[in-house]
Amino acid sequence: MRTSLHRQHTSPLTAVRNLGILAHVDAGKTTVTERILCLTGTTHKRGEVHDGTTVTDFDSQERDRGITIFAAAVSCAWDGHRINLIDTPGHVDFADEVERSLRVLDGAIAVFDAVAGVEPQSESVWRQADRYGVPRIAFVNKLDRAGADLDTAVDSVRRRLHPAPLVVQLPIGAEDRFTGVVDLLRMRSLVWADGGDTAEEGPVPDALLDEARRRRRMLEEAVAELYPLALEEFCATATLTPRTLARALRELTRSGDGVVVLCGSAYRNRGIEPLLDAAVAYLPSPLDVPAVRGTGEDGTEQERTADPAAPFAALAFKVNATPTGRLTYLRVYSGTLTKGETVMDAGTRRTERIGRILRVRADRHAELDRAVAGDIVAVAGPKAARAGSTLCAPGAPLLLEPATVAEPVVSVA
Ligand code: GDP
Repeated sequence: MRTSLHRQHTSPLTAVRNLGILAHVDAGKTTVTERILCLTGTTHKRGEVHDGTTVTDFDSQERDRGITIFAAAVSCAWDGHRINLIDTPGHVDFADEVERSLRVLDGAIAVFDAVAGVEPQSESVWRQADRYGVPRIAFVNKLDRAGADLDTAVDSVRRRLHPAPLVVQLPIGAEDRFTGVVDLLRMRSLVWADGGDTAEEGPVPDALLDEARRRRRMLEEAVAELYPLALEEFCATATLTPRTLARALRELTRSGDGVVVLCGSAYRNRGIEPLLDAAVAYLPSPLDVPAVRGTGEDGTEQERTADPAAPFAALAFKVNATPTGRLTYLRVYSGTLTKGETVMDAGTRRTERIGRILRVRADRHAELDRAVAGDIVAVAGPKAARAGSTLCAPGAPLLLEPATVAEPVVSVA
């Protein structure tokens, strides 16, 4: 059921997605994360939120409080892409952590409750994501709940968050009879059997054909209005080809001019595959986002692109104490980090040795020899780095987060 409309990557970095899941508490962020990890094969145990066995909520304090406090990054694979999922806290008390996570993301999935629609914390986290220019797609979750209504939820997105929600699915069945969706791009239905992990694909049910055509038309009109390049094709033929539509949705997502909306029920494991397809299709790779800016040793602002050959620079966005020692999560912005190498904390001028480089997966950590620009990894070794520290090549200091600097950066060369 993978759609060829979306295959586009040519180099390893274009197939990386650094993503976060943003939501109001209880909208289903943890459940969506769990389902993604299950589906992408990184864990075979389906942890449920209520029994404290979920993979991303591994900190005991989180389990005790039942909310996701600390961000953790987990890697998984989907359709030839590597998705680094950065868990962002949804609780308003942890706004700093949300902001720090947003800083290292290239894109996000905003999860909404299909009954409650946009809630206060979804609104505040949405505004923070606006500030950091994080492109987003939306997932209206809990369509199986009594009172769930996609149109009402989308209306609340339109009124409170974004004027241009672009709904790409039509639900099949409502509330506890919600069984699948019509994919409006390909005009195919996806139906999930009870307990089944993957959808059965088929034609659009006769009873929904008129409605699906009407919604496809609405989507095309909205896209043509927002994306001038599509307008010509639309005016000439009064319809957009699926390929143009997909390209336009990608551009609109990345420019922030439109928000693709999908729906499902994470709890019942419905809608997660198309959500992952949309995430890799529409959200940007590390090469598609602007160069990162920082302050060089002479006090001037510098830019670094995601070039593995450039001097190394990375932002530590999370430090976890684990039973086997301190793990520092890094977003590598430029250069290449090699196991055993010595790097410098640009804020404190301390040098730190990188012992191990780990790709954190839900079920196990994989050890790497190096990490390149664009990637998210955890490293063991640094003793003093904290969330917000910049680690960089000692010969080319760059400070990525000036707010956390205690002293000016000077050369140690
Ligand atoms: P978070 O606070 O955003 O991480 O939300 P959770 O994933 O912890 O979900 C909050 C509650 O909603 C839990 O009891 C979930 O079992 C439940 N939940 C999550 N997704 C769905 C869904 O699709 N349908 C229904 N009915 N309940 C869900």
